[in-house]
Amino acid sequence: MSKEWKQQQKERICHPQQLPQRFELTADEQAFFETAERTQSINFCVTHYYASLASETPPGKDEPPDPIRKQFIPTRHEFTSTPYESSDPLAEASYSPVARMIHRYTDRVLVLVTGRCGVYCRYCFRRYFTGDRNRFLDKAEIEGIVDYLGEHTEVREVILSGGDPLMEDNEAIEELLLQIKKARADIRFRLATRMIVVLPDRITNDLVVMLRRYAPLWVVTQFNHPYELTSRSREAVATLVDMGIPVLNQTVLLRDINDSAETLQVLFQALADARVKPYYLFQADVASGTAHFRVPLERGFALMRELRSNLSGIAVPRYAVDLPGGGGKRELTEESVRSRGEGWYELAGRDGNSYYYPDEPPTRTADGSPSSHNRESPQ
Ligand SMILES: *Cc1c(COP(=O)(O)O)cnc(C)c1O
Ligand code: SF4
Repeated sequence: MSKEWKQQQKERICHPQQLPQRFELTADEQAFFETAERTQSINFCVTHYYASLASETPPGKDEPPDPIRKQFIPTRHEFTSTPYESSDPLAEASYSPVARMIHRYTDRVLVLVTGRCGVYCRYCFRRYFTGDRNRFLDKAEIEGIVDYLGEHTEVREVILSGGDPLMEDNEAIEELLLQIKKARADIRFRLATRMIVVLPDRITNDLVVMLRRYAPLWVVTQFNHPYELTSRSREAVATLVDMGIPVLNQTVLLRDINDSAETLQVLFQALADARVKPYYLFQADVASGTAHFRVPLERGFALMRELRSNLSGIAVPRYAVDLPGGGGKRELTEESVRSRGEGWYELAGRDGNSYYYPDEPPTRTADGSPSSHNRESPQ
């Protein structure tokens, strides 16, 4: 029997000095913490469970990168920003009519329930959230959101996001669901959480029984690699689905983590077997210090072609990107590319305007050799 989720949450590894006790770090990884100590601006945390999925020693010279390590152990590359990157890559601030809510698409709003996460994924811009953005919504913020929903009946769906809403206790989450439901009985909920993947014991019977009372409620999670589909995470999924809560998955396409057709096929087959519908495959956001994770669009298109020809329709996600500079979410096909220049793609936004996504030169590892991704030629 594993420890209660609360205890596991409390015992997360959040102090950089704890890491070397367990993991042998590379020079690039160590260099991150030396700089981070001076700047104090980037979040780092991992659950013991998720850390246990990673190898404790870095891969040898001819071994493939560890897809779990790369998702939670930072490297000095996070301090390398390119000019087109930003700490608000989706321009969310300009679509926020009330505090902690983003209303960008007509029929759905996104609520930033908390900035805290079980694991701070190294490719995510939310790892910059600190201080006030990290706490749970306060009473006035909940009121503001509820009032807005009362006035805006075009909104049919509320997405609870963050951060990870399941960092909060059941009571706090239920209070929010209840207040919204009282104002708008017709609202559909979507709960975005990575706890299934990083702290699967969070999906307790009590939680699911509570969530069921607020049906229709969909859960969206984020499996990025087949290694994450353990017996415990499968059990968490089964608890939800058996009790009638549909589960969708959003995978982020990440260099040297899952940017191979084979890896993605295994992942999406396994998800469909677990009764999780692969919903989106996201091109990574243009967040500061994440260039080393981005995969060229060209390669994404090639991967999608392979997936479509090899997998059942229910196992194939939609390839999409959140266009930098506030262009919104956009499905990616070869037709979405208007032109390609030196270092960028010109993409058509939903509004007909052009948005630019970087087409980056290969990154190099510390020893100057091209990273393993770039050794292969794109198919
Ligand atoms: C991603 C997102 C949504 C949901 O978009 P879907 O295509 O319905 O999954 C809603 N609001 C915001 C602000 C988003 O970023
Ligand atoms: S991807 Fe999700 S769980 Fe990971 S840091 Fe970002 S918001 Fe948190």
